[in-house]
Amino acid sequence: MKRLEGKAALVTGAARGIGLEIAAAFAAEGAAVAVADLSLEESAAAAAEIAAKTGARAIGLGLDVTKEADCERALAETEKAFGKVDILVNNAGITKDNLVLRMKETDFDAVISVNLKGAFLMAKAASKLMLKARAGRIINISSVVGQSGQAGQANYSASKAGLIGLTKSLAREFAPRQVLVNAVAPGFIRTRMTDGLKDEAKAKISEMIPLGRMGEPGEVAKAALFLAGDDSAYITGQVLAVNGGLYM
Ligand code: NAP
Repeated sequence: MKRLEGKAALVTGAARGIGLEIAAAFAAEGAAVAVADLSLEESAAAAAEIAAKTGARAIGLGLDVTKEADCERALAETEKAFGKVDILVNNAGITKDNLVLRMKETDFDAVISVNLKGAFLMAKAASKLMLKARAGRIINISSVVGQSGQAGQANYSASKAGLIGLTKSLAREFAPRQVLVNAVAPGFIRTRMTDGLKDEAKAKISEMIPLGRMGEPGEVAKAALFLAGDDSAYITGQVLAVNGGLYM
């Protein structure tokens, strides 16, 4: 029996990178998945690929997580397609790195808006269905720098630390209705977000990581899969680090 057989999931920022791996891993375990990202075209293409590879049902949605109406529509469309929404993964995220002295207010606001407010809006929209169903999983993709801090990423690390506070508050608020809320905190993972780093920087980062290498998107997807399935039924309000030992 597949681990997510009969479940329906919505993953934000899922046209590429970690989100795409999570959606594909859920589908491979039998879940119907809504692939939601800024570009409807790219979401639809990713959903079609997932469906072809896994045989699971998959739909693509255009979604800007900073817009409340978009978030509500994405949940409504997923419910319409699959009859319910069991799992929400708040994965959409952006960076706009700079030293604080040079960081523009607009770059601070943009990162908080996508990474933190977006997760709040999606969780709020999903909670209407999940609290009624008295079941559900919300998984927020935070980051190691939300735990450790990072020079040049004040906006990003603040958003990811905020996401951990949001996770714990939602976990407490939703626990009486059996809606479980957890976070995954990846370390340095090989995606477009880290592709821009110079080889020298990548080598330095790998030296700092006890396991000696950057992580793969699929390794983050496995943690999300654990938090989405029955094996984590007694776990809520937690942060699961997937960072090769970078931060303990
Ligand atoms: P990615 O390859 O850049 O993917 C992020 C996706 O989110 C993109 O498809 C992007 O769309 C989408 N997105 C951006 N703004 C959005 C919005 N307003 N509404 C909906 N979707 C939006 O990044 P990734 O590395 O896979 O990261 C996924 C998550 O993991 C992020 O939350 C990131 O902070 C977190 N994370 C990553 C790492 C890492 O090392 N890679 C480490 C720790 C945490 P567009 O491409 O159209 O902009």
